[in-house]
Amino acid sequence: MSAEYDVLDMARRQLDLAAAHLDLDEGLKSVLARPKRQVIVNFPVVLDNGEVMCLEGYRVQHNVSRGPSKGGIRYHPDVDLDETTALAMWMTWKCAVVNIPYGGAKGGVKVNTKTLSRRELEKLTRRFTAEINIVLGERMDIPAPDIGTNQQVMGWIMDTYSMGVGYTVPGVVTGKPLELGGSEGRIEATGRGVVVVAQEAADQMGMSFEGARVVVQGFGNVGSVAARLAADAGAKVIAVSDAQGAIYNPNGLPIRKLEHYAGIDGGIRNFKDAELITNEELLELECEMLFPCAISAQIHEGNAGRVKAKLIVEGANGPTTPEADLILADRGVLVVPDILANAGGVVASYFEWVQDLQNFFWEEAEVNERLSKIMRNAYRAVHHEMMHSKTNMRTAALIIGVQRVADATVRRGIFP
Ligand code: NAD
Repeated sequence: MSAEYDVLDMARRQLDLAAAHLDLDEGLKSVLARPKRQVIVNFPVVLDNGEVMCLEGYRVQHNVSRGPSKGGIRYHPDVDLDETTALAMWMTWKCAVVNIPYGGAKGGVKVNTKTLSRRELEKLTRRFTAEINIVLGERMDIPAPDIGTNQQVMGWIMDTYSMGVGYTVPGVVTGKPLELGGSEGRIEATGRGVVVVAQEAADQMGMSFEGARVVVQGFGNVGSVAARLAADAGAKVIAVSDAQGAIYNPNGLPIRKLEHYAGIDGGIRNFKDAELITNEELLELECEMLFPCAISAQIHEGNAGRVKAKLIVEGANGPTTPEADLILADRGVLVVPDILANAGGVVASYFEWVQDLQNFFWEEAEVNERLSKIMRNAYRAVHHEMMHSKTNMRTAALIIGVQRVADATVRRGIFP
């Protein structure tokens, strides 16, 4: 997503670090460093005005040693094969860190959806699904929403796939509307997970969550929910941003009102009772906690030294570069890494998949309770590993994730 930052290189360097701690065999490491399968598709969509638009899309399955591959589908102009591969690799470690039986995948289409009508978005989605459906399946590879896609898009994917096989297959995607076999609590799950681990981290740091000043970058699915649940839990959310700009109020922003406003206005920058600042300024605000919940490579060598937060909880994938990690570690800032912090989404997706396979649906309280328990336990395990290995939390999470995937790969053996 960051055109100027090589996220695949970043993902590979992270694996190198974990592999060094684990003393992984070179052969095994080279298996884990590569995606199992990369599908590239080029396909046309007829626009409402009759013109034909040609698009490029991808589905990458990184590793399936622990179960079917799982990962979101992103619609964004910066999507490319390398970024999709990096995100698939992170999904493998993420599912392993929270110990759910999946491998990692990711998909995407290089497209600006802002210029598309609903009808065009539906046609794009159905054609893309038809192009990649040979590698999808409820026991094979299960997409979910990501940037630029939502419940409705997942509904179209499910319908298109089901039309192809001739019967309804709810378990082929997660993050679906409730009417189609979606799960209670799924929409809020990633933001909820961010807040659960932020509370755990604050506790462990001896910092009060109540009254803590929180800054949230990104006010989409993850950021808006994390902001609301953090405020509900007593924190003071003093600034939020979206792609159009950032707003700041040192007395705290009324998040529910802001969500309502953003729903009508399409953005937050014109919200009254707040000062308009830039996204760069937002990242450097005086605060206790920073939740980057937008895109990758936002905290980098150039600004990490000016970040004032004591705790960073990565709602987004890859928001902190490896150079920034070193600077933040030197300054004693705790970074709860993406593969742990934003795993709430895939955990709730797992619950949705289990419910779909069983045709037996849970109440929201049960989803939230099980989600919080998995996130809390995963945080504690990673924290324990961090102390044990005397490393940062990202490497500790990777050590746990990579070890579990490596163990499964070795146990399965190499075919034939
Ligand atoms: P979204 O499209 O709903 O929201 C993204 C938000 O980021 C929007 O408010 C957008 O305006 C903002 N944004 C974009 N560019 C920005 C910039 N340069 N500066 C500031 N804000 C900017 O997407 P989402 O689902 O909330 O996902 C956000 C991040 O979380 C992504 O990195 C995604 O991969 C990750 N993630 C999402 C989920 C999930 O369940 N949705 C799960 C795990 C990880």
